[in-house]
Amino acid sequence: MTNYRTFRRFAGLMLAGWSLISTAASAQNNTRDVLRDITEVVGLKPRFELQATSQVQNAAAVVYNGKRFLLYNPQFVASVNRAGRTDWAGTSILAHEMGHHLNGHTLRAGGSQPADELEADEFSGFVLRKMGASLAEAQAAMAVVSDEEASPTHPGRSTRLAAIGKGWQQANTQIVASSRTAAPSSAPVAVASSPTPVRPVMSTAAPMNVVGQIVFRDNPEQRYYLTSRLNVVRMADDSRNGEIVGRVTRSNSASFPYILVDAQDRRLYISSSGGVFNNRGQQVGLLSDPS
Ligand SMILES: [Zn+2]
Repeated sequence: MTNYRTFRRFAGLMLAGWSLISTAASAQNNTRDVLRDITEVVGLKPRFELQATSQVQNAAAVVYNGKRFLLYNPQFVASVNRAGRTDWAGTSILAHEMGHHLNGHTLRAGGSQPADELEADEFSGFVLRKMGASLAEAQAAMAVVSDEEASPTHPGRSTRLAAIGKGWQQANTQIVASSRTAAPSSAPVAVASSPTPVRPVMSTAAPMNVVGQIVFRDNPEQRYYLTSRLNVVRMADDSRNGEIVGRVTRSNSASFPYILVDAQDRRLYISSSGGVFNNRGQQVGLLSDPS
């Protein structure tokens, strides 16, 4: 579950010898369902080739000929389930490997990095909470397979358990918040025949008391400000004019105390720490103090 890079070297050889690879048909079918369950909770299609093989010791995420593979040793998964005393153990190992793919680790060259392992661990914790696992169940596999001490390539056990806990808590916060607030409307966006005009442009000549700034991940250069009147203002390139593109209103959720509503009535949810989330629970931006 940890050495996907060193492993990649052997992938060509291994995949070339595919017919030699033993696959436990029933185990593979179960695991395939788990794979679909994992990708569903994060809203993705399972575009991974899953292969049960005795050629890997444990599990590995590899890219070969542009295809993403998740390789796992069914005996390893079964023994982790036994040792961890829960089926969630095997699920978390597959989620960890998928985390390597989805975080882009398998696209980069170079050796294994502790930071990559922690990202994959965090992803597995997030996914397992979404699937209904307790924190202990999400950590069960790592508790039995990780080394206590850190190495140059892998973090130590307590760090890795904490990373799983971080992902698990993140998902938990979202789930608890969504159960407290009314579900967002599932009505699709109304597509206007012509672009919806934003409300009148305000200039910096008008008094604008900035209380926060918002940076969106998909366009970090563009500045948005939150004014004391709770308007969201997008600044023009010249920084002299801004236009109101949305409003922030209070919600009755403690975890997501504010909702950002734009001119098209789309909603984003602002957490108590300033994270801006879409209705699928993905963080899309950050609200912070004005710089
Ligand atoms: Zn790993």
